[in-house]
Amino acid sequence: MPNQAPTETREEPAAAEHTRPAIRLSGLRKHFGDVHAVDGVDLDIPPGEFFSMLGPSGSGKTTVLRMIAGFELPTGGTIELEGHDVSRLAPFERDVNTVFQDYALFPHMTVLQNVEYGLRVKRVPKRQRRERALEALKTVRLEDYGSRKPAQLSGGQRQRVALARALVNRPKVLLLDEPLGALDLKLRQAMQLELKQIQRDVGITFVFVTHDQDEALTMSDRIAVFNNGKIEQVGPPEEVYERPASAFVAGFVGTSNLLGGRGAETVIGRPGLFSIRPEKIRIDDALSEPAAAGETSATGTVTDVVYAGATVRYAVTLDAGGQLSVVRQNTDGAAAFGAGRVRLSWRNEHSFQVQ
Ligand code: ADP
Ligand code: MG
Repeated sequence: MPNQAPTETREEPAAAEHTRPAIRLSGLRKHFGDVHAVDGVDLDIPPGEFFSMLGPSGSGKTTVLRMIAGFELPTGGTIELEGHDVSRLAPFERDVNTVFQDYALFPHMTVLQNVEYGLRVKRVPKRQRRERALEALKTVRLEDYGSRKPAQLSGGQRQRVALARALVNRPKVLLLDEPLGALDLKLRQAMQLELKQIQRDVGITFVFVTHDQDEALTMSDRIAVFNNGKIEQVGPPEEVYERPASAFVAGFVGTSNLLGGRGAETVIGRPGLFSIRPEKIRIDDALSEPAAAGETSATGTVTDVVYAGATVRYAVTLDAGGQLSVVRQNTDGAAAFGAGRVRLSWRNEHSFQVQ
């Protein structure tokens, strides 16, 4: 695995001091009866990284997060935080905090009291408590809202209070389980940028769980794509998107645009399953020049046109067999190609083989 540190760092404490990951999962498994919710996960997350776990519902993301937090014990494998095996420790013995989708703020307490709560439980003296709570509220830009009750806040503000409540403990690692899932699209997009900025400001390791590929691509330093309790691919957003390691990743991150069978043999020139991103494909009139050097091209028929405002999406059935989706910037103000004959072209390197 490319994300694994060389094995010698495990044996040399001196070298491990600066290279040891914030989180290391080794052979992590969790079974609920017959359900293999997490089925052998190996992962290193370096300190300060904004790391996302992306995958469909039921792929095991939450279970991994709950095991890191200590709410769930592994069936097998280990969890290390900064080089220490915490697999069997209670949640409060681990230097992590979790932000859930339902913020679960105390409705009868003010915002400030909500943020202070964790420190009160830890018997932090009152003045220090107040200072740290105010600082955390400042981090999430809510310093003027301390005296309000949660009901007097918008969804996005409540979310930020939940975040402040976690940050006030100054954990080394913050775990976030679909924290923006309850917000509407506009607010979610604003919060994505804000959350990313906050992570940069505080510099702590974020592990962010989401089923939303746009969210993961927008926010993350690296993404792990989960499927059936396993990681299919780990890498920076551009790598996962531009070079999906499997047909599953190609389909889950971005639009599935796969060419196989006879279509692949005829158009690409060899058998296999190939992925091509819709926005990499140029769509022209069928009578236009065939491919230039370094390009692949195929003729076909438009079978569907979807107008989506900023873009227009075409479904094209290739003469050689198979169907490709093409996205075009809406530069013409309307769909330029209706049902009809077209030629599709793309640079050779933009179609690549997947398993
Ligand atoms: P995700 O967060 O990716 O949606 P989960 O980790 O919540 O996935 O769930 C992974 C699988 O484990 C699912 O099949 C789910 O039904 C199952 N599962 C999760 N928690 C439990 C539990 N407490 N008991 C039984 N099955 C569970
Ligand atoms: Mg989940």
